[in-house]
Amino acid sequence: MEANQQYLLEIQSKTDNQIESLRSYAEENAVPIVDRLSLEMIKQLIRIHGAKNILEIGTAIGYSSMHFASVSDDIQITTIERDEKMITQAKTNFETFGYSSQIRLIEGNALEKYSQVDDKVYDIIFIDAAKAQSKKFFEYYTPLLKKGGLVITDNVLYHGFVSNIDIVRSRNVKQMVKKVQKFNEWLMNQENYSTNFINMDDGLAISIKGE
Ligand code: SAM
Repeated sequence: MEANQQYLLEIQSKTDNQIESLRSYAEENAVPIVDRLSLEMIKQLIRIHGAKNILEIGTAIGYSSMHFASVSDDIQITTIERDEKMITQAKTNFETFGYSSQIRLIEGNALEKYSQVDDKVYDIIFIDAAKAQSKKFFEYYTPLLKKGGLVITDNVLYHGFVSNIDIVRSRNVKQMVKKVQKFNEWLMNQENYSTNFINMDDGLAISIKGE
């Protein structure tokens, strides 16, 4: 690991709370969850923005949604997950860690759940599900984002492959990486959004919705 990254992880480890115990579970069981520095960055954006309503696409075991909810008691998270096993574990975790009243879990394919989440206007949308579908999620859910709201997309550099696709051997991975590249370019060209890419962990895109 790069020295600066290691240093920042070490000094920020003091802020860890109980939820952090799920990280080792995720690592042992190959559950992909948001990287630590990216997580701290998103939590800081939640604070700066005073976000109260957050929509997350891709819950997994509920690690990031509980971290977001932990920023303040008046934050409400809506999170969508389609995998049965993940849903069961996320529900258990929300109960165990005391977040059931702050987090609502919508079960099923995120590309079909608009009508179950359109009861709110969201301050932040966090896109962290199937990487080849980020554009679809963006188009589908941003009508629910307030003006000035943020869309945060994770894994926009996808294991370093996005900037160096020639090293990818697998055809499937190559196709996926091409989709991420296309998404990034498309995102940069959205006139109503101002987007900034951050070279941290697996790459984050932060897009601000205009008027
Ligand atoms: N945000 C979580 C965290 O950081 O703790 C990690 C989410 S994980 C990277 C991605 C999750 O998205 C997986 O659990 C996967 O099952 C789910 N997913 C992928 N495509 C989806 C879709 N179309 N609808 C709902 N969930 C989806």
